[in-house]
Amino acid sequence: MESCWHIETDLLIAGSGMAGMSAALFAANRGVNAFIAGGAGGFEYSSGLLDLWGISLTKKGQITRKPWDMLEKIFENMPSHPFANQKKDTIKQAFFELTASLKAMGLAYTGYDALNSMVMTPFGTLKPTYRLPYTMKSNVEAFKKKEPWLILDFKGLREFSAVFFKEVMKKHRKDIRTQCIEFPGTSLQSQVFTPFLARNFETDQVQQKFIKKVKPLLKKETYLGLPAVLGVHSSEKILNILEKELGVKIFEIPTSPVSVPGIRLKETMMKALENSSVKTLQNLRVVKVLKASDKGFDCLLGSEQNPVRIHAKAILLATGRFLGRGLYASQKKIRESIFDLPVCQPGTRRKWYRQDYFNQQGHKIHQAGIETDDFARAVDKEKRPVFNNLFVSGSILAHQDWIRTKCGAGLSIVTSFHAIRSYLQIRQGGKIC
Ligand SMILES: Cc1cc2nc3c(=O)[nH]c(=O)nc-3n(C[C@H](O)[C@H](O)[C@H](O)COP(=O)(O)OP(=O)(O)OC[C@H]3O[C@@H](n4cnc5c(N)ncnc54)[C@H](O)[C@@H]3O)c2cc1C
Repeated sequence: MESCWHIETDLLIAGSGMAGMSAALFAANRGVNAFIAGGAGGFEYSSGLLDLWGISLTKKGQITRKPWDMLEKIFENMPSHPFANQKKDTIKQAFFELTASLKAMGLAYTGYDALNSMVMTPFGTLKPTYRLPYTMKSNVEAFKKKEPWLILDFKGLREFSAVFFKEVMKKHRKDIRTQCIEFPGTSLQSQVFTPFLARNFETDQVQQKFIKKVKPLLKKETYLGLPAVLGVHSSEKILNILEKELGVKIFEIPTSPVSVPGIRLKETMMKALENSSVKTLQNLRVVKVLKASDKGFDCLLGSEQNPVRIHAKAILLATGRFLGRGLYASQKKIRESIFDLPVCQPGTRRKWYRQDYFNQQGHKIHQAGIETDDFARAVDKEKRPVFNNLFVSGSILAHQDWIRTKCGAGLSIVTSFHAIRSYLQIRQGGKIC
């Protein structure tokens, strides 16, 4: 405990996955003095797509292009779902504010107002999503148009195979050609990884070498598809340069992890927080809560041997589920890792899973999590706030199954928007010291 720093803050955001980072952006936009702490989160695994709702609630097992119709059904029939107490306009506002902040930092997102876009995945499936990176805009368009494509991959790359993509897309399209090229500057490497390629793509030199290699390969194709490696910080600019020089429309295809669009998203959000009222404590986790009350929280971050000590007047818990380590499953029970908050869960472990693994209703364990009141505060079994100043957002919330319903990023964005606005409302009401 000797080298113990001491930080005082209005709000500590615990968790820096999609939920924590979205909350940090919303807090920064409102000038809230806050710190955000946590590990990498799910970004490196995520496709970088921002889903709102992708599964039909009327035709079992099918995907949907109409997220708003499905949300209407949630508002009417699923009162416990975290989306249920949100208005359509609030959800739109949350997405708009987040994507506007990303765009201001050079990462543009696109999509329809009312419909999901259908993005081609590396496995030849179509994934419904609400907002997609600008570099995948032509991915959606190319599928609809009857024009020929050239699909590229790179020697030594495992995260994407052009030949496999062509094979699985064969049922939709016959006019796909593939080509495997050596990525500029990688002749001595037997294996290459997408983040490495993306960071190299940032330089003019690599862009020009790429253009020189690819130009002679293009015949009658009007579209060029490639794994998502078009840079990390200037993907839109790189796309525009390549399209102009090569004279074709170019689209990225999401890859299996490690995912560059996910890394782009995280790094852009981090950049947006620079010089803002929200400071980052990267890779530090809350390891111990020394004091917790309606007056604030004293926490140790990092390690108990060499901790950062922080006093926060309020906390936003965005620590994710089992992967993020916000929830922990013992032999008998699911626990919340920091405060041991009440976790809404099936009565016994036997009820965690259904007999049929592929049951379309999903498994009950995936709906376990923290319940909140209308102000996004964690509640106890009597549905009273555990503390006036403990807010919760993201995938740790109960009564949702984001993987099955394809609403991952949307759930994080919308519930974090609500949590930050609720925090400000409660603070204005004088209930946070
Ligand atoms: C494989 C995969 C693919 C995905 N694909 C998509 C997709 O295509 N579209 C989409 O919309 N979404 C997708 N997502 C979902 C999305 O990226 C987010 O993972 C999801 O929204 C959950 O975010 P979260 O912030 O709640 O949790 P997490 O991402 O799990 O983040 C939890 C955070 O809390 C931190 N934490 C945990 N304990 C502590 C502690 N004690 N103190 C401080 N910090 C702590 C962790 O370090 C981490 O930073 C995908 C996710 C995965 C894993």
